[in-house]
Amino acid sequence: MTPTLERWTAERSTELYGVREWGAGFFGISPSGDLQVTAEPGNFSGAVSIPEILAGIQDRGLDMPVLLRIENILDTQISLLNDSFQTAMESLAFKGSYLGAYPIKVNQQQQVVEAVTRHGKKYHHGLEAGSKAELIAAMGMLRDTEAVLVCNGYKDEEFIDLGLHATQLGFKCVLVIEMPGELPLIIERAKALGVDPILGVRVKLSAQANGMWAESGGDRSIFGLNAAQIIEVIDALKDAGMLDCLQLLHYHLGSQIPNIREIRNAVAEASRVYAGLVGEGAGMRYLDLGGGLAVDYDGTQTNFMSSRNYSVDEYCVDVVEGVMTVLDEQNVPHPTIITESGRALVAYYSMLLFNVLDAARFEPEPLPDKLPENTNIHILHLHDAMQSLNLRNVQECFNDILYYRDEVRQAFAQGKLSFRERALGDSVFWETIHRIARLAKDMPTLPQELEGITEALSDIYYCNFSVFQSLPDSWAIGQLFPIMPVHRLNEMPTREGLLADITCDCDGKIDRFIDSQGVKRTMPLHELKDNEEYCLGAFLVGAYQETLGDLHNLLGDTNIVTIRIRENGEFDFVGELEGDSVEDILSYVEYDTKALLNRFRETAENAVRSGQITPTQRRKILQAYKDGLQGYTYFER
Ligand SMILES: *Cc1c(COP(=O)(O)O)cnc(C)c1O
Repeated sequence: MTPTLERWTAERSTELYGVREWGAGFFGISPSGDLQVTAEPGNFSGAVSIPEILAGIQDRGLDMPVLLRIENILDTQISLLNDSFQTAMESLAFKGSYLGAYPIKVNQQQQVVEAVTRHGKKYHHGLEAGSKAELIAAMGMLRDTEAVLVCNGYKDEEFIDLGLHATQLGFKCVLVIEMPGELPLIIERAKALGVDPILGVRVKLSAQANGMWAESGGDRSIFGLNAAQIIEVIDALKDAGMLDCLQLLHYHLGSQIPNIREIRNAVAEASRVYAGLVGEGAGMRYLDLGGGLAVDYDGTQTNFMSSRNYSVDEYCVDVVEGVMTVLDEQNVPHPTIITESGRALVAYYSMLLFNVLDAARFEPEPLPDKLPENTNIHILHLHDAMQSLNLRNVQECFNDILYYRDEVRQAFAQGKLSFRERALGDSVFWETIHRIARLAKDMPTLPQELEGITEALSDIYYCNFSVFQSLPDSWAIGQLFPIMPVHRLNEMPTREGLLADITCDCDGKIDRFIDSQGVKRTMPLHELKDNEEYCLGAFLVGAYQETLGDLHNLLGDTNIVTIRIRENGEFDFVGELEGDSVEDILSYVEYDTKALLNRFRETAENAVRSGQITPTQRRKILQAYKDGLQGYTYFER
């Protein structure tokens, strides 16, 4: 079967790359093979072609890699969460209400926080701050005094004062007590400033979660109070005459909780604690479940860590029902339920688009028809092993060629073989490995040693981005992201490859890909064409990826472009941020770039003085250095 003769369709790419499964209705493929995006899930009449957006970005002079945000996907997600809670509460006759609080740490970029507060206003969607800096950002961004401003994190006097000032300004600012030691200072500062604070406590639940961030919940969690410590807080507040200030119970199981059972268990336990606090006479009004609402990155809808076995609707119904079941039993009034969902709101709206710079294939050099007369004995043995290979002796042949390859190498190290002879030995070895890999495809079971042999021979596509900078969770915690080409999707992808980034660091690669059956080590890719860019996208990267990035190899922030899709399928560019220049990056690591340039000027002048270069050459070299300082940190064509 010749692959090129086979008819390949956009629909087959849709299946192959699992677009329907992970795309949540936002992504589809046009008949002409372009990946499309829509802000209205499932409705592709107004969808926009991603290659077309990319062309528009390049026309504006911005290079890849580029982080593309679709602003109205964020709107859709904020509405989805708020509407789903609304619907669940109505259908269950819940008497409280819902308020969202976007945790700034999930994506602190001003554009993101601004977009959340703008679209979230009609739902009074608030913010969550985990540090002083985040609180300062939140106080500057939030206008809506109906929304909550939840302050988590360990607090010093300055943090507490800022929170109390927010209360003075009319914000529903909640100071959540995370550690027993915080309370005396909060009481003291509240009295000093004459503010009645809204206080919360963070409880350590015994319910454990198995997500990858699971340590942040449960008994081993660093933050939060156990039952005895909460009772101490209550007693201290009673003594200070401030028990009515305690209005919120908070917990956070961890992010990306893939299993709904764990979410339900935590809700049930927290609801009991809430009822207990009401019983103690606290002024309880809010039950804050923290984050954890997961994103189905691999589209499998399972409790696998890159997935989730529930929908947003189901999450909302289960949470509301869980709270009601416990509180109704104890005749406790329904609270305002708060969630600090971050990932689920922002993951979908960003994608990283990057071009492939080159591809390496592991194809053995063609062997000569006949080995030379005086071929070394070890190479002859290698060659014999290769020729004897058949379905029944695969393992034996594999053992033999490993042995003879080592003999060849040793002979070379001892000066008994020329470099050219050693190269011939390598070629025979790799040719045999390829033949084994071809046979392995037809074998029902593979000897353990040979597992992964096809992956070992897959192509490497070198891509213009940095995993460390743009997909840090991919290497740090093995998080999977959907990755696929954004065009040529009506062509059959005939290669299998893994992706390497431009850092040439052995960790700077992606070799784990989403798959309906688990995790794949390679992904299907198209053959590169001369003089034509091949572009890939990494999707659902809006949460946690942008600010966790480090400056590995001094590759900086990518260009960022934000668009808004109109109903008629046209789109507007609503924001662009140029990525870091080399100069920016160097200054982050404390270089004084002016001084650097001056030093380089001197180096060049010395070269003129000693006659190595002419003054004109010096001028050109200095110009190249200056241009380099101002340039993009990524590969520029
Ligand atoms: C990280 C964090 C969140 C966000 O969790 P998501 O799973 O992204 O929704 C919420 N609350 C607290 C306290 C956090 O630390």
